[in-house]
Amino acid sequence: MTLLPTTHVSFPAGEVTGESAVLAVHPLADGRYAVVTEATPFHPLDHTWPDQPADLGELAVGGVAYPVVDCLTGAVGPEGGELLVGSDIPVRRGDEEWSWLVLHVVEAQPQADAVGLRAELRVDAERRALLSASHSGCHLLALALNAALAPRWRKDPGRADAFGNPDFDSLAMASSVMDTEASTDTYRLGKSLRKKGFTAEATEEYPALAEAVPALTEAVNAQLAAWVAADAAVRIEVPGPELTARRRWHCELPAGSAEIFCGGTHLHHLGELAELRTELTLSEDGSELVAVTRPKRA
Ligand SMILES: [Zn+2]
Repeated sequence: MTLLPTTHVSFPAGEVTGESAVLAVHPLADGRYAVVTEATPFHPLDHTWPDQPADLGELAVGGVAYPVVDCLTGAVGPEGGELLVGSDIPVRRGDEEWSWLVLHVVEAQPQADAVGLRAELRVDAERRALLSASHSGCHLLALALNAALAPRWRKDPGRADAFGNPDFDSLAMASSVMDTEASTDTYRLGKSLRKKGFTAEATEEYPALAEAVPALTEAVNAQLAAWVAADAAVRIEVPGPELTARRRWHCELPAGSAEIFCGGTHLHHLGELAELRTELTLSEDGSELVAVTRPKRA
């Protein structure tokens, strides 16, 4: 495949429509086709950290509309060569020798002269809004959980969040997955976390984690409710238009500005939610804590 420029993306600003030249149409191994445009509002599934699912929607070329049934990350290596898709990409997102492409996956083969024509790109805005709400909820849960668990660190683990609390969320994170209903964050409470100073055991100040889950859930939900009530502003800091730019989520919370590196899409302000609640579950053996955080839109 000829070397194409890294796709420019407008989803970080919240865009759901756009128009751009088709640069390539590439047959995929499963019989579907990937349409590559110069720029797009579509958010693809990230191959390095696949937390937020792909945008779906529609693209129209030369008056013919094609449903976009998936949206993936593609990459072409430094020598041109093959287009690699998703988990087949051997390097991390952003490797500067590679070009990084948003692949709009369509089922029908686009017309032969599609390359060079302009495509109209339309994201399913309702699905996007739900995914954005779940993603904002995921970051807020991280901050609220870090604060609620802060007393359980016997020593400084050497990584703090935006509010100076030990960053339990990133130190214990096993996986983070969003869908249109919720964000599900799974944390591993293993030996390495204990070595860094986290304790699930009872001390004079607090009960064992297993008994503390209801109180912990209540504390986190009280914090989330306060942040939603404050209608905090959310924005994405975008250092460049490329898919691979290192973007940052900002939220102007009452206690100060919080920042988290993030490749996804978000709400514009927390008042778009009526409610944000999490449900914490500790596994029977105490080795895994799962947070399911559900936003309810206003
Ligand atoms: Zn994120």
